Amino acid sequence: MGTGGLFDLTGKVAVVTGGNGGIGLGIARGLARAGADIAVVGRRAEKLEAAVVELEGLGVRAAGIACDVTDEAAVAAMAAEVSERFGRLDILVNNAGTSVRKAPQDLTAEDWHQVIDTNMTSAFLCAKACYPLLKAAGGGKVINNGSMLSIFGAPWNAAYGASKGGVMQFSRSLATAWAPDNIQVNCILPGWIDTDLTKKARQQVEGLHERILARTPAGRWGDPDDFAGVAVFLASAASDFITGVALPVDGGYSIAI
Ligand code: NDP
Repeated sequence: MGTGGLFDLTGKVAVVTGGNGGIGLGIARGLARAGADIAVVGRRAEKLEAAVVELEGLGVRAAGIACDVTDEAAVAAMAAEVSERFGRLDILVNNAGTSVRKAPQDLTAEDWHQVIDTNMTSAFLCAKACYPLLKAAGGGKVINNGSMLSIFGAPWNAAYGASKGGVMQFSRSLATAWAPDNIQVNCILPGWIDTDLTKKARQQVEGLHERILARTPAGRWGDPDDFAGVAVFLASAASDFITGVALPVDGGYSIAI
């Protein structure tokens, strides 16, 4: 028995922030394989171009939009460009993120604002700018990228944890606010995934690699392509009655001791 097109994204358009690398590119690849056209958003032009080539190779239309997601005017211009180039928007993935790893007492106010703005305020700015497009499409999907730090604490990640806890709670508020518009808003909570971000973490936090491996029931670090399936599910009609959830994608890390 087939799935009756439940997971088919043909004719849909998705914005993926930070879709030019790491988990975001894994998500973009998944959405493209399900048929969605993709706008990848990030700052570095070279990475954007490479992602566009790769996504076009999957048979969909793709565009790279250079935009700093902490900048409200740039985010508004990004949404306008998506509308101009694709004529609609159905799926917004707020995935761009960063981290500054220091003890809380050593964080500068600048570090704090950089992390909060990149990880949390950006989700608000992008959601706000994209809302008229999602509404005009008759409904849509917002997927926000949280973290294990949405639910756990770490001594070296106070700003990051605050931002990711905020992303999860923001998702719940947004889900309640936009349900009448047929917009579902969900949050994914990645476990430990092998990307540029965590390469740096493994260099900076001694023993991290081994501790994660030992605690993760799946017995491995995650890969960006582990996010393709969950993204398609949360971006498609298959999840139309699911909103406001925070879904761990973590190989069991969050249910193990
Ligand atoms: P990467 O560093 O590979 O990806 C981060 C992406 O965000 C890059 O593509 C970067 O593009 C983009 N980005 C960062 N700042 C901005 C900005 N100001 N404006 C626009 N784009 C920006 O890391 P990951 O793939 O690991 O991280 C992706 C998300 O997943 C983050 O939100 C992260 O917190 C979250 N996450 C990751 C985990 C992991 O284990 N890897 C675990 C839990 C959550 P560019 O540099 O071109 O701007």
